[in-house]
Amino acid sequence: MRYSALSLLKNALTGNRDWQPAWRQPAPKPHYDVIIVGGGGHGLATAYYLAKEFGLRNVAVIEKGYVGSGNVGRNTTIIRSNYLLPGNNPFYELSLTLWEGLEQDFNFNAMVSQRGIVNLYHSDAQRDAYTRRGNAMRLHGVDAELLERPALREMLPFLDFDNARFPVLGGLLQRRAGTVRHDAVAWGYARGADSRGVDIIQHCEVTAIRRENGRVTGVETSRGFIGCGRLALATAGNSSRTAEMAGLSLPIESHVLQAFVSEGLKPFIDCVVTFGVGHFYISQSDKGGLVFGGDIDGYNSYAQRGNLAMVEHVAEAGVSMIPALSRVRMLRAWGGIMDMSMDGSPIIDRTPIDNLYLNAGWCYGGFKATPASGYCFAHLIARNEPHETARQMRLDRFERGYLLDEGGKGAQANLH
Ligand SMILES: Cc1cc2nc3c(=O)[nH]c(=O)nc-3n(C[C@H](O)[C@H](O)[C@H](O)COP(=O)(O)OP(=O)(O)OC[C@H]3O[C@@H](n4cnc5c(N)ncnc54)[C@H](O)[C@@H]3O)c2cc1C
Repeated sequence: MRYSALSLLKNALTGNRDWQPAWRQPAPKPHYDVIIVGGGGHGLATAYYLAKEFGLRNVAVIEKGYVGSGNVGRNTTIIRSNYLLPGNNPFYELSLTLWEGLEQDFNFNAMVSQRGIVNLYHSDAQRDAYTRRGNAMRLHGVDAELLERPALREMLPFLDFDNARFPVLGGLLQRRAGTVRHDAVAWGYARGADSRGVDIIQHCEVTAIRRENGRVTGVETSRGFIGCGRLALATAGNSSRTAEMAGLSLPIESHVLQAFVSEGLKPFIDCVVTFGVGHFYISQSDKGGLVFGGDIDGYNSYAQRGNLAMVEHVAEAGVSMIPALSRVRMLRAWGGIMDMSMDGSPIIDRTPIDNLYLNAGWCYGGFKATPASGYCFAHLIARNEPHETARQMRLDRFERGYLLDEGGKGAQANLH
C-alpha cells in the first residue's frame, strides 16, 4: 500500500477502515538465503537494500524484541557527516545523501530535518582542529563552514558566550546535518523490506548459531531452528553476545548511553548544538521537547537504563553551555546499550567463518549511519565484496594496527 496525499484523503473519508498493517507477522520458514539477526535500524536497512538493490528476497530479519525496541528507537536522532578521516568521511556522506532521498525512496515520513549542526569551539587549539576537520570535509565535497563568534552570537544568542571557564569562541557548522525521527526510520525500512518479501520475525531470540564443517547452517531461536545460506549479525549493543555464539571474540565493549527529553517549550533551538569542552549535544523536537545527551555511563552493562551520576553530569554540561536550561524541567530519560569499538569506528566485514557477516561497533554514532550501513552491509552480503566507502571498516584492523581513530580519544572504550 503506497502512502500519498490521495490515500490519506480517501481513508479519512472512508472512516480509516482500509489501512493495511505496515508489515506482516509471518511464521518463520525452515530456511532462508539470508538471515539477519537484529531488527534495529541497521538490520532492517540491510534487508531493505538486499531486496531492493540486490534482488535477494528470501531474507528474514530476526528480532528478539519488537522493531524499534533497541538503539534505533532510543537515540538522540542526530544525523551528520562531519568526519575527518578518509576512512570515515565518504561513508557518512553516502549516508547523508541517502537520508536526503530516503522518505521518497521508502515512501514513509521519517521527518528528516536538515536543520544543521554546530560544534562549538572554546580555545585556539580547538579552532585549529575544527578548521582542519572542516577543510577535510570540503576536500571530500562535504559542506562545512567555520563561524566566528559574532556570527554565532547572532545565530545562537542563548549560549553562554562569556562563560569564564569555557568561553565560546566560534563553531563548525554543517548545514545539511540535522535530525530524523528515529523510530519512523525503523518502521519505514521494515515496511519497505516487508513489501519486497522480507520476513520480519519479531519476539524471536537467537540463542545459538549452528555450524557444520566450518560453515554456519542456521540459528537456534526461541521459535525453533531456522536454516540459512548466509548469516548476518546486526545486533548493536549485543554484538559481543551474538558473535560469541559463533566462537568469535570481538574488540567491542558494551556500555550504557542515556538520552533525556525536557518538557515541551516554544521553539527555542532550531539546529543541533554540541558543546566543545564537555560531551553534550542538544536539539529541539517538533513537539517542543529539548532532546539531549552526553557521555556513556562508563561501566560495562547490557541494561537499557543508566545511573543518576550521569544525569547530573549531563545536566551540568548543559547548563554550562546554555544557562537557561537550569529553569527547564526534565521529563524523560532512558538508556541504550552501545557497542563501543576500541577505536570508536564501526565494523562492516566478513568474519573468519565463511558465510558469517558482521555489522557492529557503532558506538554512539550509528543512527546517522543507518542508510549507508544497510546499503554497504547488503553489498557485502550479496557480492561478498566490501562497498568502496566501507573498505576500511575491517574486523582485522585492530590486530593489523590500521585503526580508524576518528575521535582521537584513545583506544580505550571508556575514554571515547
Ligand atoms: C541514548 C542514545 C543516543 C544516541 N544518539 C545518537 C545520535 O544522536 N546519532 C547517532 O548517529 N547515533 C546515536 N546513537 C547510536 C545509535 O542509536 C546506534 O549506534 C544504532 O542505532 C545501532 O544500530 P541499530 O539501530 O541496528 O541498533 P538496535 O536498534 O539496538 O538494533 C539491534 C537489535 O538487535 C536485537 N538483538 C540483540 N540480540 C539479539 C538476539 N540474540 N536475537 C535477536 N535479536 C537480537 C536487539 O533487540 C535490537 O533490536 C545513540 C544511542 C543511544 C542509546
